[in-house]
Amino acid sequence: MRFKFFISLIIIVIGLGAASAQETPLSGVTIHVVQRGETLFDIARAHGLTIQALADLNNIANPNSIFVGQRLLVPSRNVAIAAPTDAVQPMPTPVFHIVRSGETLFQIAQRYGLTVSALASANSISDPSLIYSGQRLLIPPRESAAVESAGAPLPSPLMSIEIYPRRIQDGQSARFTLTASAPITVTGIFLNRAFVAASENGSLTAIALVGVPVGTASGEYPLQFNISSSRGQQRLETMVRVEGKAYRREFINVLGDRTSLLDPATDEAELNILRTVMSAFNPERYFGGLMGLPAAAGISSPFGSLRTYAGSDLQRIHTGTDFAGAPGSPIIAPASGRVVLADTLNIRGVATVIDHGWGIYTGYWHQSERYVSVGEFVTMGRIIGAIGSTGRVTGAHLHWELWVNGVPVDPMQWVGTAFAG
Ligand SMILES: [Zn+2]
Repeated sequence: MRFKFFISLIIIVIGLGAASAQETPLSGVTIHVVQRGETLFDIARAHGLTIQALADLNNIANPNSIFVGQRLLVPSRNVAIAAPTDAVQPMPTPVFHIVRSGETLFQIAQRYGLTVSALASANSISDPSLIYSGQRLLIPPRESAAVESAGAPLPSPLMSIEIYPRRIQDGQSARFTLTASAPITVTGIFLNRAFVAASENGSLTAIALVGVPVGTASGEYPLQFNISSSRGQQRLETMVRVEGKAYRREFINVLGDRTSLLDPATDEAELNILRTVMSAFNPERYFGGLMGLPAAAGISSPFGSLRTYAGSDLQRIHTGTDFAGAPGSPIIAPASGRVVLADTLNIRGVATVIDHGWGIYTGYWHQSERYVSVGEFVTMGRIIGAIGSTGRVTGAHLHWELWVNGVPVDPMQWVGTAFAG
């Protein structure tokens, strides 16, 4: 078995067709952000590469000269980035297909549940008609799961349902794409949270982005779609597998004079402000492609660790990624959007929230200065503030947070994966 089917799908209401228009949002390369303590050897091994290959790809002359936060290109289609726990996941064994006489790339792609473009890009084939008998093709793992048939076709006007990524993990984002031959509007429920799907292509495509809360146990969870079209209302249900991810633990010493900020009531009140601002669904999309990094600095603390605080029983999940930038260094908008919060909060200090549309929000905490105000539209790459140490901190850093459909998730997934556009 070259890769595991992490998403098993059981059709409850109606059988679903296999005619899936799978997308391949990544090219054959993704980004790995170097974590503290990682060596080039670790990274190469985790991605099934030799050190030399990885060094060549990144123009690294001295393999000992990598640094925390450095972005390395890795030639893989389904490698999640960032968290050190990713490094220990076994890579699937490569599978090859030997082209037989008369076979087309399309036939081979179909056989392995791939798009022609995914198969072509995995093999650096620019013209899909130019394959030859005896050629050895690398079969990349499928990135997403099509909801597969239990016999009957999808109910009209639905043409396909795709779930991405194939392996959904807690603390991560997921996407459900429905295509149809006539306009549809789609809402649904996953992990007991309602979601609204955005519309594209004249409502022939509906795309829902959801966040899987950190701590969601491994298991099968129902996913429900409510689809309305000119044919009326339809409900589809399927089961989706979520895999638990091992996040690390951290012990935090808060600066002495700020221990009052550990009061759980303070926490809850402030979190409620964020919930109000960062949970609404905006049908307009301002982001597209990969997100940039919000600071030119190394990551000092990854998303998802369980934190305990000195002199307190308080435990908190770290709901963002920390960048250890020098005080005063710039904070850069990693994607375009509209500023919906620009305030000074007790715990988060000088804070900014950007609405990127489709239920995607990013937050920037502990700033020394803020250069944007509520209502302002910022384009990707704009400097929106400066790194500081305001709020509940142990030192200057940027805390970068990303919410999807009201759930804080790992923002670094968005630096390596284009969820839309
Ligand atoms: Zn943080």
